[in-house]
Amino acid sequence: MADKRDYYEVLGLQKGASDAEIKKAYRKLAKQYHPDLNPDDPQAEEKFKEINEANQVLSDPEKRAKYDQFGHAGVDPSYGGGANFTGGFDGVDLGDIFADIFGGGFGGFGGFGSSRSTANAPRRGSDISASLEVGFMEACKGVSYDMDIRVVDECPECHGAGGTNPKTCPDCKGRGYVTIQQRGPFGIMQSQRPCSKCGGKGKIVENSCPKCGGRGRIEVKKTISVKVPAGIDNGITLNVRGQGNVGENGGPRGDLKVRISVRKDPVFEREDYNIWIDFPITYSQAVQGAEIEVPTIDGMVSYKVPAGTQPGTVFRLKNKGVQKLQRSEGDRGDQLVRINVEVPKKLNKKQLEALEAFENTLDDKNYENRKSFFDKIKERFQK
Ligand SMILES: [Zn+2]
Ligand SMILES: [Zn+2]
Repeated sequence: MADKRDYYEVLGLQKGASDAEIKKAYRKLAKQYHPDLNPDDPQAEEKFKEINEANQVLSDPEKRAKYDQFGHAGVDPSYGGGANFTGGFDGVDLGDIFADIFGGGFGGFGGFGSSRSTANAPRRGSDISASLEVGFMEACKGVSYDMDIRVVDECPECHGAGGTNPKTCPDCKGRGYVTIQQRGPFGIMQSQRPCSKCGGKGKIVENSCPKCGGRGRIEVKKTISVKVPAGIDNGITLNVRGQGNVGENGGPRGDLKVRISVRKDPVFEREDYNIWIDFPITYSQAVQGAEIEVPTIDGMVSYKVPAGTQPGTVFRLKNKGVQKLQRSEGDRGDQLVRINVEVPKKLNKKQLEALEAFENTLDDKNYENRKSFFDKIKERFQK
């Protein structure tokens, strides 16, 4: 999937495109490549899916921010494992597009989706949403969690049949939908509605299964092991493929979408894949230089702070940050150590005298910054 196209490129936009530009580009392309308007072009459907996928991410401010930050991995960390948006046109507001093309005002465009609305066509199960809170270190290193979820499964009693003696529905002749003719702006239009007698299943049963009440499906509790990859960040939604609700007529299961939140750490602060830490040293250590022991997510690391280190100086510990998502193991961010010089307080008289005696031995060459600052002020204000 490394060849997955950039979403902005898919919509023919630049990265900073406005919401209005995204909407406009999406509408234009969705119309251009809509499969019903390109019946003889098999590539149009692929193109249409790609456009919809790009729009789903870029039109959602939260998803877009994640995508801008982490690329495809940010909106779908599992995407390396295969196509994600396999469900076809899920979540696409087709009514919106049709209203645009035909001026609105009528539903049930005959041709579209007729193959999907037949009773026996395989249908993908719906997705399940869940949330999971992980610790800071777990997010850095990766972790597995057993999650208890409620999921729709095939009824174990009737194996999905809904009861005994299933018969073809007399109203729809097993098709699951009925055809309605209507007068529309282009003449007689045919539209299809799910059959109300069989609920779109195409079959009715004589004796409803007591366990599932004839639905053939039942909600069950399940424990799913969810692998949280190293490098996950707050707000990313993990896609666990095939762990959602059961499909119909042999269609694939939906996915389990797990929204991750990461607990804060009292010492480390994360910024993308880098980790920041504020490290306090003494006035004397800053003056003389010192060997310090810095905590990292791998343990303590020695670092030599040079003599004359100023407050706010940032040292970089290369590759000591967080493992990057969808990258080879060991490809990590950095740890950034911000030096904070602690000024000693509550000195006694003797200490203050010693300090003053020491201070009196210093001159401009020991305080270069201070000297150049006051030189600049003099130039500007004292002439
Ligand atoms: Zn049953
Ligand atoms: Zn029916």
